[in-house]
Amino acid sequence: MKKFGALIASFAISIASFTPAAFAQDKGMVGISMPTKTSTRWISDGETMEKLFTEAGYTPDLQFADDDIPNQLAQIENMVTKGAKVLVIGAIDGTTLSDILQKAADAGVKVIAYDRLIRDSGNVDYYATFDNFQVGVLQATSLVDGLKERFPDVKPWNVELFGGSPDDNNAFFFYDGAMSVLQPLIDSGDIVVKSGQMGMEQVGTLRWDGTVAQARMENLLSSTYTDDQLHGALSPYDGLSIGILSALKGVGYGSGDMKMPIVTGQDAELPSVKSILSDEQYSTVFKDTRELAKVAVSMVEALMSGGTPEINDDKTYNNGVKVVPSYLLKPVAVDKANVRDVMVSSGYYTAEQIDN
Ligand code: BGC
Repeated sequence: MKKFGALIASFAISIASFTPAAFAQDKGMVGISMPTKTSTRWISDGETMEKLFTEAGYTPDLQFADDDIPNQLAQIENMVTKGAKVLVIGAIDGTTLSDILQKAADAGVKVIAYDRLIRDSGNVDYYATFDNFQVGVLQATSLVDGLKERFPDVKPWNVELFGGSPDDNNAFFFYDGAMSVLQPLIDSGDIVVKSGQMGMEQVGTLRWDGTVAQARMENLLSSTYTDDQLHGALSPYDGLSIGILSALKGVGYGSGDMKMPIVTGQDAELPSVKSILSDEQYSTVFKDTRELAKVAVSMVEALMSGGTPEINDDKTYNNGVKVVPSYLLKPVAVDKANVRDVMVSSGYYTAEQIDN
């Protein structure tokens, strides 16, 4: 009898120690659809969410779509079929998801647009992102600061503009934010875009592809800058900046009397942080993807518990069907003066990662 009692006791203990884990798996499946692995930020976004959702008791299904639209549609369809309760989607092309999101809505699945707005669909519940207009403002402000610092005696400054992918709603916000700073200087004649290429139709870079930006910069250099020097390039993303810089270095910028033009960026990717510290790229915009992942997870938690996610913007992001309630995080401009401190003190990178 005593033995039996001990057995029951130990059984009770083992149930007690298993119960939280067993319950922890009970909150259901969350589909996390990220656009690509070609940029480390999306890997970090996806993996941070995977970890946080697991800790909160969900079963995450994390998929990367290799920048291939049919691939992303198939992955999302599969998540819905497998019974996901919520989808968190970083869209490749924000206009291609209407049909699959209708299927998701019919199945009662909630949808969070992650970083990039999903357009042309009423079935987007919330949007977690950064202040994208402000990203562009920070990029252009840094570009102008850099021009003043590196080319104080030059007027006008020759600047070329690069935009992000025209199928990404963010690209327009970055461009418009930047132009809110640059257009007055273009109008006053302080800045000249010698190629005349302006507006997203002319300066956009499909799929944010660095090789496309590099090829465009090479063409601009050979068509427009054989006699004149270029002083700056507005670049909306580090992957483009690296391509632009290699085109510039290819024709001799950064050596002799050809000073490196001011090149901006976004995402504080490690190669760009190193490039900034070695005086090539001028600046970038740090967006802490760990914070964005937290916002998305807390939105899901609120939705799943019958609550209302916290938002701080209900005006800016009209997706063509509705204004999607949004939470906007603050982007941070970094250049040589603060990049190391900001990245290391935030714990985003270690000093070893930056220095090696
Ligand atoms: C993101 C940027 C990123 C770009 C390219 C945009 O939607 O907001 O952070 O640089 O995509 O991946």
